[in-house]
Amino acid sequence: MVLHPILQDLVKTPFFRYFKVKLWCDCPFWPDDGMCYLRDCTVCECPESEFPEPFKKSSRLFSADDVICQEGKPQAAVDRTLDDTIFKGWIQIDNPWTYDDETDDAAMTYVNLQLNPERYTGYAGPSAQRIWTAVYKENCPQYPSEEWCNEKKVMYKLISGLHSSISVHIASEYLLDSSANLWGQNVQMLYDRVWKHPDRVRNLYFIFLLVLRAVTKAADYLEQAEYNTGNHVEDLKTQSLVRQLLYNNKLLSACRVPFDEVNIWQGQNGPDLLQQIQNQFRNISAIMNCVGCEKCRLWGKLQVNGLATALKVLFFVDGKNNVNKTLQLQRNEVIALFNLLNRLSQSVKFVHDMGPLMEKMERHDSSPT
Ligand code: FAD
Repeated sequence: MVLHPILQDLVKTPFFRYFKVKLWCDCPFWPDDGMCYLRDCTVCECPESEFPEPFKKSSRLFSADDVICQEGKPQAAVDRTLDDTIFKGWIQIDNPWTYDDETDDAAMTYVNLQLNPERYTGYAGPSAQRIWTAVYKENCPQYPSEEWCNEKKVMYKLISGLHSSISVHIASEYLLDSSANLWGQNVQMLYDRVWKHPDRVRNLYFIFLLVLRAVTKAADYLEQAEYNTGNHVEDLKTQSLVRQLLYNNKLLSACRVPFDEVNIWQGQNGPDLLQQIQNQFRNISAIMNCVGCEKCRLWGKLQVNGLATALKVLFFVDGKNNVNKTLQLQRNEVIALFNLLNRLSQSVKFVHDMGPLMEKMERHDSSPT
């Protein structure tokens, strides 16, 4: 896949590797279930020395408490010293698609995504089950398919595709032996959770195509955006990678599109449906605060934010009926969008690469015993 190596390089750049997020938050739906203490669930330390110099606020303005552990958990310490004003050319407003108030800087913190990869954490059981049930049942009710309007089908496919991608990442980076700290692939898990269910594989491709399409649509905006972190060399590299990606992406835009987003909301109930979808996304984003594992919460929030950004681009940018005048994205939305695209691209690649082995397992599964 042409895009994949570019995306892999892009998400490592200083601009794209720090995500602003509210990690310590109360679940608005049910009490904390104490899952946070799993070893592989913690979001790990992001030493101050690691940040590009211009990112940091003057040390005079900050007490030591700002840079060391949060809630008495040294292993969960992340950096609160980054200076937003360095990010020139980006708006900072509350995102209507998300539940958290992004302008509440006291509650937000920066996490280095490279230090906290999405992989197996051990988070499972009733806590995880409750989240998925809430996301599917409360936000995308599973009516019999005939009763679904296209828009609701789209929502279900997106959530299911994201769920597949998360399962793929768990299977591709699994803790095979905890005593030896041995990580590797769990192919049986990939088969059982994803491959055995063709709709889940299809939904993974669907969400990948949709996010890719959103990036294509926002290409002009993304090409002109300022990827400034104060590190001239790195910033030039970021700009160049974004261009390479968009150039490749433009070539790919000739590919089949996942659905006709220009017309999908234009029916009689179009504006209401759009409002409804936005509310559903806010709910899903609120549910992410209940994920009882820090690292899963981090990636859950990032990917829901990225998906919301993709939908915002697709449904607001086309200018038809003057729905939107000018596209405006926040820095964090763009970071979430590209990191989501990278995660999906990695999942698609892994499923594709494992195809021959999966087919073999399938033949074995269906052969008479
Ligand atoms: P689950 O994956 O919990 O699925 C629950 C049920 O949903 C299944 O029984 C099935 O009926 C249905 N289902 C499953 N997949 C799909 C699909 N693609 N489409 C439609 N329906 C489906 N664990 C980690 O180890 N690392 C992580 O980074 C991580 N991140 C998470 C992020 C979020 C937001 C959530 C909610 C959970 C996360 N988890 C993570 C937990 C992980 O997703 C599973 O819940 C856990 O591994 C237990 O898996 P399970 O086999 O019980 O089925």
